[in-house]
Amino acid sequence: MNISCDGIVNNPLGGASYVFEKEIIPYLLGNLNKNKLKISVGAQPNSSPHFGTLETITLAFALARKIEDYDPKKQVTILYEVIETAPSETIVIDGIKYQKNLNFTGKIDNYFGEYIDILDYYKNKTNINYEIRYQYEFNAHPETKSVFKSILNNREYISEKLDQKYKNLRVRMSCPICGLTDKNSVLNKYTEDTITFYCPEHGNYSINVNDDISKIEYNSPLRNLIRGMSYTAVNHSHDYDYEILRITGSDYAGFYQEELRYKLASYLGCNVYNMSMIFYAPLVVDWSGAKLSKSLYVKEGAYQDIPKKFINYSFLKEALGYKGLEILYDIVLNWINNPYMLFRHYSIYYFMEEFKKYE
Ligand SMILES: [Zn+2]
Repeated sequence: MNISCDGIVNNPLGGASYVFEKEIIPYLLGNLNKNKLKISVGAQPNSSPHFGTLETITLAFALARKIEDYDPKKQVTILYEVIETAPSETIVIDGIKYQKNLNFTGKIDNYFGEYIDILDYYKNKTNINYEIRYQYEFNAHPETKSVFKSILNNREYISEKLDQKYKNLRVRMSCPICGLTDKNSVLNKYTEDTITFYCPEHGNYSINVNDDISKIEYNSPLRNLIRGMSYTAVNHSHDYDYEILRITGSDYAGFYQEELRYKLASYLGCNVYNMSMIFYAPLVVDWSGAKLSKSLYVKEGAYQDIPKKFINYSFLKEALGYKGLEILYDIVLNWINNPYMLFRHYSIYYFMEEFKKYE
């Protein structure tokens, strides 16, 4: 199929683009109370950073730069949240799905260097520092622990909402001996303070939630809720001299957050009116409007029609060196300078045309 188009980029106003047509930074600043701000970006380093991930990281640095320029009192850093517990291998034993995570298989090291390369480039370009935090460090935070305990106390309600398929609280922990992890938390057993997990090879192993919970893992919706509530607690605590704002892809905006984050947080007693903010990065979509998917490319060889440099960082760097990152920065900076451009998605063909202007 050949699609012909006039090549004109229209930006019709509507919804948030209407409200924040000319300025977005003053609104963000009006909702931030501390001088130090951390902009949180997450990634599961299980392949070369795909184009959408790259766009989100770039937007985080550009936004940090703009905030500091607007208000010189602000000190902004990027908080790069690594999900080292992301699945690396999956197998089925006795009808139960098990996975081993990136950290356990050591595959986390395969692509981590590419992420550091990007972070270092933007750090030098923007003069914005970054720090890396692993999931186990996030879990060890007292705020995260207290949120998790509250969720455990309301396990049935939360599971019912967050896990439509299994109705389980999707918490897991790798077997300390072989790393196998009950992906859908099917065989977990709970008491008030303990969770017991099951490994088909090595039997039961438990944690007491009053002790160290740094090794536990969550599925995405549960992690999203815990993160939102934990960030909120940090933002309003005098024990921390910083607050956190999250940047993530806008496939998570809307129904997902309203139903699975805000309403549940409110149920658990969180003051939703001043909950930590999420800033959404426009999605990079294919011709049909679906987001470019990392796993479709990796597992099924999708996107043969798209030039490789727009697939992932490894190809982009091969084609353009650091120039690729420089161009992407200019593109997203233009969106922040014209914030009506932030509240929409962009097809990969938009990026192809924009890149032509700069290359
Ligand atoms: Zn085991």
